[in-house]
Amino acid sequence: MKKQFHIKINDEDSTIIDINSDESISFDIYHPATKFNKDDCSEFGPFYKIDGLRWKNKEHFHLSWAEKKLKLNDKISFQYIEGDLETTPLKKEEKYIELELTCSFCDKKASETQQLIDGGLLARICNECVQVCQCEIDKDNLKHKDMSTNEDQITHIILIGDSIFDNAEYVNKGDSVIEQLQTNIPINCKATLLAVDGDVINDVYAQLEMIPKVTTHAFLSIGGNDALRIVNVLQQASSTVGEAMEIFTGIRLDFQKRYRELITQIKLKIDKLIICTIHDSVPDIEPRALTALSIFNEIILKEAFSIGVAVIDLRLLCNEKEDYSTISPIEPSGQGARKIVEQIVKITKEHDFNCAIPHVYK
Ligand SMILES: [Zn+2]
Repeated sequence: MKKQFHIKINDEDSTIIDINSDESISFDIYHPATKFNKDDCSEFGPFYKIDGLRWKNKEHFHLSWAEKKLKLNDKISFQYIEGDLETTPLKKEEKYIELELTCSFCDKKASETQQLIDGGLLARICNECVQVCQCEIDKDNLKHKDMSTNEDQITHIILIGDSIFDNAEYVNKGDSVIEQLQTNIPINCKATLLAVDGDVINDVYAQLEMIPKVTTHAFLSIGGNDALRIVNVLQQASSTVGEAMEIFTGIRLDFQKRYRELITQIKLKIDKLIICTIHDSVPDIEPRALTALSIFNEIILKEAFSIGVAVIDLRLLCNEKEDYSTISPIEPSGQGARKIVEQIVKITKEHDFNCAIPHVYK
């Protein structure tokens, strides 16, 4: 007694297949897609097929018992039974030659490549394609690495303007703005001091001549000495407050014109520009001098905001007596310099220079 499949169409004789341990059997009812066969759809009707595979040693054979087109109202019955009937002879038995595996990328056959790596399901890749892929990955990695190294290496900060940055003479060795900056910036970052103690707006143009070729960030502190030069105006006689205001109007317009021209010129050379206001917490400063100073700071802020440049507000940052040098109270002390350096480092690291909204650091 053997286990058998009995397959019968209408009243025809059954196709009887023995179930053997070295054979796989498949019974298919198939209807092809007719949409793509415009000529004669009748050729592409449904059919049924009984076929299988037999393993013999290390080879295998394709077996076929039946293949027939189906007609309308055909009725198929299927039985799995134990019986001892004569089985249907094979219609076809041929050695099955497995198609040679190919690389899913370049289509090369396994025999044409040194190695074919199986990726599961239907994907495979040859050793040559692996190399091509690795090359692409390396190129991409190198590009990213280059970009990051370049960015680190070309960070070059310049300090331009006056003694807010050039304050070495008024502090202990190592405490000046440039010295503290150089010890606090990352290894691949450079900082150069171009600012000169005592310089006014018009002097900064000479500093711009010395800008290093690869400069990425410019910090500007200027206007304090321009403001100092008008101190004698405070002693000037005037008959009315209005007349005094007239004098300040002239000063204001002149400062605005020169300041605007300067920052426009700097911005043309260095896109990443940060400017400082003039500090006003100088110990023992005359209150009326502070009133006059506010005119200058108002212009600095307005010009900075109008071109979208961020500002270090030294009025709010250096607001303690200890922030000023004991040698000259209008210069930053070691502590004042440290506060300024902290902001410069922070801005260089974090400031979004593409952001159109002006930012005040304090
Ligand atoms: Zn390949």
